[in-house]
Amino acid sequence: MNIKEVTNFLESYAPLQYQESYDNCGLIVGDAKAKVKGALITLDCTEVIIDEAIATECNLVIAHHPIVFGGLKKLNGSNYIERTVIKAIKNDIAIYAIHTNLDNVHNGVSAKIAEKIGLENSKVLAPKKDLLRQLAVYCPTSDVEKVKTVLFQAGAGAIGNYDECSFSAKGEGTFRANEGCDPHIGNIGERHREKEEKIEVIFPKYKENAIISALKSEHPYEEVAYQIYILDNIYNNVGAGIVGDLPNKVDANQFLEILKSNMKTDCIRHTKLVKNQIKRVAICGGSGSFLLSNAICEKADVFITSDFKYHEFFDAENDIIIADIGHFESEQFTKDLIYDLLSKKFSKFAVRLSKVNTNPINYL
Ligand SMILES: [Zn+2]
Repeated sequence: MNIKEVTNFLESYAPLQYQESYDNCGLIVGDAKAKVKGALITLDCTEVIIDEAIATECNLVIAHHPIVFGGLKKLNGSNYIERTVIKAIKNDIAIYAIHTNLDNVHNGVSAKIAEKIGLENSKVLAPKKDLLRQLAVYCPTSDVEKVKTVLFQAGAGAIGNYDECSFSAKGEGTFRANEGCDPHIGNIGERHREKEEKIEVIFPKYKENAIISALKSEHPYEEVAYQIYILDNIYNNVGAGIVGDLPNKVDANQFLEILKSNMKTDCIRHTKLVKNQIKRVAICGGSGSFLLSNAICEKADVFITSDFKYHEFFDAENDIIIADIGHFESEQFTKDLIYDLLSKKFSKFAVRLSKVNTNPINYL
């Protein structure tokens, strides 16, 4: 089992294409072909985490936050980032980051918080656009089902919790094979008419190459006629934050107390309790102030996130309660999410949760 097989699996869950443009997810240090002896899961990768990896014989550190974020111009150990990278390289330890790509999938960082709080009917708070494409392909009637099957297997046709979604319309195609062609059906130099179906499927754009090569591998024609359309649709499965409902209304004060205990935080910075009762809850693990207007739009009673600045708290107006629970605290269960994914999938190497608390912030 090499590192690439492990990271491929993680990227099938949280594709790298879903990371934000400023991010630096993926294999940051190490050789993708190296055999995995053990994987250590952490929120942050620092020098003490590399020490822990050495002590526990893990040669792969999987972190939520990328240790190299803004780039490295020198590598001489003058700061903790350089020292961490140097120590990892010297000890043959790979560092992998699964950051905003894990934030942006519907079953990612914020969904884990929603699970801890017991939200129901959760959905992505700010779903993204420009991630979907549509394929239309013309196929002789006799081959329609097998072509659909390979398209579905390659990841086309998933809408929400449904898969194998497609639309077909019957019609007639024409073509003329010229000298040098090897037509599946019809004769060289003659116009051929064939009963065909136009199959249409939606797909995430990052799967385009895989879907087109699957199509060409199974479609009987020498030249496959197809179109790909850019869609303006929102992709409800991908985007930042989560919003959902508590099973029952809870008194606002009591809700904050429960939140404090469930999220193991010493301090919640919150705005005025403008709602007496809490039912609808918006969540964003990590820095989420950019989602305040989405939370208000969704009529959430409270928005749980972190890293709100002083002036940003005023923006709550009388519409919502902002509950800033701390960055580390909001993302602390991300480790468990990654651990559960890996330990269910792989049994050939040890998966360990880091025992180090990497939170740089202390409360008096
Ligand atoms: Zn974070």
